[in-house]
Amino acid sequence: MKILFIASEVEGLVKTGGLADVAYALPKELQRLGHDVRIVMPAYRSLNDIWMQWPKRQFSTKISYFNTETVDARYGEHEDLPIIAIDHPASFDRNGIYDDGHDAFYDNPYRFTVMTKAALDWCKLENWQPDIVHANDWQSSLAGFFLQEHYRHDPFFSATRSVLSIHNGAYQMHCDPKWLAQVGIDQRFYNPSDFEDNGHLNMLKGALGFADGVTTVSPGYAAELTTPIGGHGIDFKFRNLHRPIVGILNGCDYDQWNPETDPWLLAQFATPDDGGKARCKLGLQREMGLSIDAKVPLLATICRLVDQKGITYLIPVFKELMANHNCQVAMLGSGDPLLVAQLEQIQAEFPDRFRFVNGYDAGLSHRIEAGSDAFLMPSIFEPCGLNQIYSLRYGTVPLVREVGGLQDSVCRLSKSERNLKSATGFMFSELSEAALLEEVLRMLNVYQHKQTQWKALQRNGMAKRFSWKKSACQYQEFYRLLLDAPRAEHPLA
Ligand code: ADP
Repeated sequence: MKILFIASEVEGLVKTGGLADVAYALPKELQRLGHDVRIVMPAYRSLNDIWMQWPKRQFSTKISYFNTETVDARYGEHEDLPIIAIDHPASFDRNGIYDDGHDAFYDNPYRFTVMTKAALDWCKLENWQPDIVHANDWQSSLAGFFLQEHYRHDPFFSATRSVLSIHNGAYQMHCDPKWLAQVGIDQRFYNPSDFEDNGHLNMLKGALGFADGVTTVSPGYAAELTTPIGGHGIDFKFRNLHRPIVGILNGCDYDQWNPETDPWLLAQFATPDDGGKARCKLGLQREMGLSIDAKVPLLATICRLVDQKGITYLIPVFKELMANHNCQVAMLGSGDPLLVAQLEQIQAEFPDRFRFVNGYDAGLSHRIEAGSDAFLMPSIFEPCGLNQIYSLRYGTVPLVREVGGLQDSVCRLSKSERNLKSATGFMFSELSEAALLEEVLRMLNVYQHKQTQWKALQRNGMAKRFSWKKSACQYQEFYRLLLDAPRAEHPLA
């Protein structure tokens, strides 16, 4: 199959979250399965040194009835993956990537529409007829809409099917309806069933009605998206797709996340007690300025500091743990300045037991995964989540909330502790400080008093594999299903 993968971030080039991991690993695995995959992404300024070396081809892309843009497609490779970087300086030659809410990014709806439309026009330029156009999140979500509306009668795309993958349904791109005409959406689609959302243009919501197939990154999140609680306000759209949304659990890139070979670590390890993990723990305590103590339970968290990650109810739990329990915390994250301030305050109060690093640091994230005893992920919602999967591989026992991909990837230790053959971590359900604290204390009790159980959790976790090959095979199967079915027809297109 020829697969055009459109993404706003790709691991190794530009990354803010899990989408980047998928946009690298899935195309790579599809390539291994023998498919011809091309990734289209923006030529952001941060990577100018790379793009500028790449050969380019200029072409025009018609965004709407009155807007045509001239762009350069820059041709390069990223670890054998063919990349087409859309070079459109007005859209991408600026500091930052999205930064929603900042005035400098007021034109996000337009910038990413240029990327999406250019991706489709690039196919025509190169006479490269895609079987599948795979869009990701709101940024490229309009691909399916364009195929159905703008290229409806174009024989070039008559056999093409579109897939839209939701990596995080909370980001939908609500904007002023003035963008409708600019991004090529006709007024007739501005209705409550399509792009209109309480007086705003909602790009993702509307786009869902035009994709031949919609997927998301775990079966648990697929089910949640169709419910009023988990559907981010557009659950009715997820319930009324052309075909039911499919949840395919993300894999893990074990070339990067393998404690036996990880170059970021002070010591590599193959089992939780071959000495390597213990050295990583001491190294992490030293690096983070925590007191050096092999026995004290070291809990970790790595995440974007946003509401989704449950930080607001993790903070009081941290305070309670610091005040009344014997443990340490190593945390890495960046985002909301109010949360940063609260975390820095706990650090100031307990400097040798609580350490928060405000920033984004790939190497440190590996060392935290390796050197910690447990990993806390109490997300309010979590489409898939990657850190709990990394934790498992590094013998760091995850404690997660029973939600989305967390419940699909962690097997909870039952209250009776009889499932020691399969359990890999701890899980709680209720979205409350009390429920989180109760489970953390239960975990600390197992760590401190039940070594056999703890070792079993570590070993089970380290033996688990979330292979990208398996996920890629599921995507492949889904693509085939779409190619064998008639194109989805939107009644107004
Ligand atoms: P999300 O996509 O919601 O941010 P995921 O758990 O799916 O959450 O993916 C987050 C990815 O970003 C992981 O690879 C994680 O290690 C990485 N990450 C998040 N915050 C940081 C940080 N501050 N420093 C280094 N890596 C981070």
